[in-house]
Amino acid sequence: MKVRNDIDIKEVTNINAVKHRNFPQVPKVIFGKGCFNQLGEILLPQRKHADAPFIFLVDDVFKNTELAKKIPLLFNDELIFVSSAEEPKTNQVDQLVHDILQKYTSLPSGIVGIGGGTLLDLAKAVSLLLTNKGSAADYQGWDLIQKPSIYKIGVPTISGTGAEVSRTTVLLGPEKKLGINSDFTVFDQVVLDPEVTVGVPKDQWFYTGMDCYIHCIESLNGTYLNAFSKSYGEMALELCKEVYLENLEALESREKLMMASWHGGMSIAYSQVGVAHAMSYGLSYLLGIKHGIGNCLVFQHLEEFYGEGVALFNEMKQKHQIELPTGICKDLTEDDFDTLCSVALKMEPLWENAIGKNWKETITPEKLKSIYRKI
Ligand code: NAD
Ligand code: ZN
Repeated sequence: MKVRNDIDIKEVTNINAVKHRNFPQVPKVIFGKGCFNQLGEILLPQRKHADAPFIFLVDDVFKNTELAKKIPLLFNDELIFVSSAEEPKTNQVDQLVHDILQKYTSLPSGIVGIGGGTLLDLAKAVSLLLTNKGSAADYQGWDLIQKPSIYKIGVPTISGTGAEVSRTTVLLGPEKKLGINSDFTVFDQVVLDPEVTVGVPKDQWFYTGMDCYIHCIESLNGTYLNAFSKSYGEMALELCKEVYLENLEALESREKLMMASWHGGMSIAYSQVGVAHAMSYGLSYLLGIKHGIGNCLVFQHLEEFYGEGVALFNEMKQKHQIELPTGICKDLTEDDFDTLCSVALKMEPLWENAIGKNWKETITPEKLKSIYRKI
């Protein structure tokens, strides 16, 4: 694997031409079995006054569960259960923000997102839109957010997306599926309690965990790779191999996947994802297929790009007896295939990372259609 030094040879003579990215990380993180019980004491110093509530956005899979009972509600705090059946949408964010602003006389003390990538992204977006005027759709893109959000905490209850560490919140808008990428998108605090991931169904555990695995493969095999992303990517990849190919004890497995997700997210923070993600965005936009399973559906057919990675993926799939659905694209029209390709081809940085600056020479709609037809 080739490591890029982040300095083009051509540019070495003109050092001013090199622009390195400078990005924030999650400033506070608590890790360990049972640490969710400390949420109340973590929130206490962040409470502005009795009328400024904490709003808890919680995956509705936790309705009537022990975890829901442990949520440390005080004063006029509000608990909102949200379905994660569909990926978060810009109008869903706008509605939540509207309701919160209508209901309370002052801004909330903070937003707490409890769930998988869907709820984490929703929490990030709502906290941003409470201080930035307009619709969430206005901010889909890079560095369009002008003001810091209110205080926000993420509690991942399933591991893999890296949404807990990333500087984006991926939203489905009226025109596009695209993240609100900004320095202000990063959580102020993350709570990593492996115990809260206990109930995750096996298939979902595989799909979301494979999102992390695919982050590693795409980052480690990309042209944007540098020592920063490589170190995190390699660590995450090792952890994924342990979790999915060895027979770890349950708690150890949950802990390791949680840390794999974190490191996988850190790896792509300073590089980029690649072919599976670009193509999976098309599936999600046209057919509403969720991120984790969408990545798996594409990745299994990417031997020519990620040979070793795909072989290992198949080994993991077999070990856990995961059957991926088939025939997803079989009834699609030519127009549908065009839509899939146009969404995927818009993800230019992903293709440039995967293939290189001349990616347009080999990545054509026909090429992509031949892969989509296999799904
Ligand atoms: P998810 O949040 O969509 O949840 C998947 C399923 O698992 C849901 O049915 C949910 O109810 C269930 N679930 C979650 N925790 C559970 C638990 N402890 N017990 C039982 N069931 C549980 O899944 P995900 O794969 O984590 O997230 C996908 C979303 O993340 C997509 O919207 C994608 O766009 C986004 N994403 C964001 C980033 C980012 O950096 N912001 C990165 C990758 C993906
Ligand atoms: Zn992903």
